[in-house]
Amino acid sequence: MKNLLNHPLFQQLQNTPLPVQRVQTDWLEQASIQLDMLRLDLLHPQVSGNKWFKQKHHLIQAAEQGCNCLLSFGGAWSNHIHALAAVGNLLKIPTIGVIRGERSKTPSPTLIDAERWGMQLHFINRKDYRQKHQPDFVQKLLTELGLSTDSCYVIPEGGSGALGIKGCEMILQSGAINPKDYQQIWLASGTGATSAGVIRSTQGHSQIHSVAVLKDANWMTDEIGQYLKLQQNNWQVETDFHCKGYGKTTPELLAFIDDFYQQTGILLDQVYTGKMMFGLYQQVCAGNVKIHRKILTIHSGGLQGSRALR
Ligand SMILES: *Cc1c(COP(=O)(O)O)cnc(C)c1O
Repeated sequence: MKNLLNHPLFQQLQNTPLPVQRVQTDWLEQASIQLDMLRLDLLHPQVSGNKWFKQKHHLIQAAEQGCNCLLSFGGAWSNHIHALAAVGNLLKIPTIGVIRGERSKTPSPTLIDAERWGMQLHFINRKDYRQKHQPDFVQKLLTELGLSTDSCYVIPEGGSGALGIKGCEMILQSGAINPKDYQQIWLASGTGATSAGVIRSTQGHSQIHSVAVLKDANWMTDEIGQYLKLQQNNWQVETDFHCKGYGKTTPELLAFIDDFYQQTGILLDQVYTGKMMFGLYQQVCAGNVKIHRKILTIHSGGLQGSRALR
């Protein structure tokens, strides 16, 4: 991984400005709201969305430590595992995916891609998987796989942690926009790491609406709060738009995603970005967003996971 930072693809992912697109729908027009979307999903055909931002500093750290492989954790539909396998393939870094649950006879397209891209998959049961943050457990796992902590860099599940958040501080800078032009910024939140990075990069301008995609996500406010250096209050977690919980969908959500696609040509996924946009839609329709507001939404990617619906 020595020459990672000079790799043309690394530089391209790092420096290419991302498109910002004006979004027009009947409900936005009726409410006289201007909506722009920062398309992290268009970063690269295989490395999509916020996961690159979360992984980037882990990769740099791994290179600095002289590691020659990357290991991380995820479920069968994990966007993080998918992006990591793609990055490994493109940058020629061996990757190992520790996958929750048993190997299925009909693997998900996510895992099929990952293996095709050379990721070594290692399945562990759900009980063991819960220990993924414990150093002893990780050590044992590495030994079992014939690896050492000197040679193999372990990225936390989802690419989170302080380094993941640091990478997400660059998200708003990745598009040709001035984030200060927007009164509100909306994004989807699973662990809160991406939101924490985005909030940290705002210096108080814009209200950040972080839409929790899981049920009972009141913990997320503390989780994000602990990563903010300064006393910042320009953010809130939206806990009402999870549509029955993580990975779950409702007919209304799926109909909304479909209608949004018909009106804009933009695909949203059902786990993250669909819930974020559906939440914003409900707030707009309820009259909770003032007229003439300028809103930025972040399309964080995740479209590979939509293959679960087909
Ligand atoms: C992982 C993911 C998120 C959530 O990121 P967190 O940092 O865990 O909050 C949002 N959108 C997409 C598409 C993702 O894959």
